[in-house]
Amino acid sequence: MTSETTPVTAERERELLGRVPTGLLFGDGWSAAEDGATFPVVDPATGQAIAHVADASPADGARALDAAAAAQEGWAATAPRERAEILRRAFELVTARTDDLALLMTLEMGKPLAESRGEVAYGAEFLRWFSEEAPRISGRYATAPDGANRLMVLKRPVGPCLFITPWNFPLAMATRKIAPAIAAGCTMVLKPAALTPLTALYFAELLREAGLPDGVLTVIPTTRAGAVTAPLIRDPRLRKLSFTGSTEVGRRLIADSAEQVLRVSMELGGNAPFLVFDDADLDRAVAGAVLAKMRNGGEACVAANRFLVQRGIAERFTQAFTERMRGFRVARGTEPGSTMGPLVDEPTRTKVAELVAGAVEDGARVALGGRAVDGPGYFYEPTVLTDVPADARILDEEIFGPVAPIVVFDTEEEAVTLANATPFGLVAFAFTSDLNRGLRLAERIETGMFGLNAGVVSNPAAPFGGVKQSGLGREGGFEGIDEYLETRYVGIADPFAG
Ligand code: NAP
Repeated sequence: MTSETTPVTAERERELLGRVPTGLLFGDGWSAAEDGATFPVVDPATGQAIAHVADASPADGARALDAAAAAQEGWAATAPRERAEILRRAFELVTARTDDLALLMTLEMGKPLAESRGEVAYGAEFLRWFSEEAPRISGRYATAPDGANRLMVLKRPVGPCLFITPWNFPLAMATRKIAPAIAAGCTMVLKPAALTPLTALYFAELLREAGLPDGVLTVIPTTRAGAVTAPLIRDPRLRKLSFTGSTEVGRRLIADSAEQVLRVSMELGGNAPFLVFDDADLDRAVAGAVLAKMRNGGEACVAANRFLVQRGIAERFTQAFTERMRGFRVARGTEPGSTMGPLVDEPTRTKVAELVAGAVEDGARVALGGRAVDGPGYFYEPTVLTDVPADARILDEEIFGPVAPIVVFDTEEEAVTLANATPFGLVAFAFTSDLNRGLRLAERIETGMFGLNAGVVSNPAAPFGGVKQSGLGREGGFEGIDEYLETRYVGIADPFAG
């Protein structure tokens, strides 16, 4: 992971925070919450509030959906090229404002600036990718098999969507939904995570600057997620829910969506296995392991959660990986040289500490770290656990922190069984120099995504998503826009008959 070298001054932070919209975005611009409520946004490196943001009520949620529903028909009628150009301008604007967006993200969720810049680049790419997909929405016209009737198939926008996004990638989780919805011609209500609303609010203003018409996107940060979104999910004007977050909340939202048979996309939790075989290139495997574990400080759904290492390479891998983990510099993300920031809040840090304590009770040995860092903020040391028994509880849970449990296995068969021994199925990683083995694993491990000798798989041009309890639907790739399109079939009488 790279680090920044230019210090960020307190004045620069104040100046930026002074420019971020802190209201709710409705069809007629920014407003306060109807009851005037606000809530604080906290810098997890200091525990101090850095901004206060309007706190949407259920009435504000209803007002947002009113705007989205009113704008839908006109927006669906715009030319695909017009929607593409808005997305392209948004891509240029986000890229031009990388410094602002990266600093905001670091201030509200903690990751080092270099990583925040990486997320800006990744998040922006969805805008560019879907600007290129918008003009390619197409249908088909065919002769029926009996040669008589004609079959016409159209793609239509699904309609008003509700987006609920998490705090760990405050920009990219929003652009991965917003960009394909704009391309398809859907209007949207966005509810960003209460921990990280600032990036979403700043981005929404950039979309307005890019020419997005009023009402196409409304934004409603709130501390009452369930109370504000549940009535929208029951409202027949809403046609789609796309959620990224925990499996626990996702499961509840799927149940709520059943009432009006709402179309859903769910990007949920993961429990990624990271497999290293005896024949792996050690340097590549270690570099991949560091990326897969430590991107976003381990607070990623695709983070390697279980390191499964074959016995013949286990000692060398563990030693080299532990040395790389020791090299992380844990500090506020704005500090030059910081390569790991704080965890997002105290409950997240407590959960990580409990998982480590439980693993030690189950027989694991702490080879590195294993402690919270003193002082303000929610820092936790990069941690390596060895001798982890295959039935340790830590292997069943999404760690969401900088902790790497290492389990040793003997055979490929055993590795596949261990990898699949989870209700999750988002991503798996495997390092081997045997191509056939790699392809066998890609077919046998039950995940939506698979990294072969690669520690990062996310790419806007690829379909991101999981199987089993990791979710439904795909974001990005050619598949991403389908989540926002309905298929409409028109049966036409034989034009030559009669
Ligand atoms: P979370 O607690 O499920 O929250 C996600 C979002 O849902 C937040 O905006 C949250 O609002 C909202 N929410 C919570 N309860 C709700 C309810 N009853 N009704 C409607 N909305 C509700 O997850 P998180 O802790 O923010 O994020 C971490 C999780 O996200 C992890 O499990 C991670 O694996 C998953 N994730 C998955 C992907 C993927 O693509 N598969 C990507 C990133 C993260 P508040 O902020 O107000 O709580």
